Amino acid sequence: MRKIKECLIKPDAARVLKALASHLKAADDSLVFICPGCREPVQPIGDHFEHLDKNPRCPLTHEG
Ligand SMILES: [Zn+2]
Repeated sequence: MRKIKECLIKPDAARVLKALASHLKAADDSLVFICPGCREPVQPIGDHFEHLDKNPRCPLTHEG
């Protein structure tokens, strides 16, 4: 299973990265994106990333 190292990016760049991530994921389903906050797997949804399993303890989780 391949992994992409996390990086800190600006919101505008995040939108571009998400689009890129969707293309990569479509091309290779074994790709896994890792949350830099909790090291759990995340997936691109809409214009952001979400944890595969909700993780309320993650410092990057936004509770609505
Ligand atoms: Zn997280």
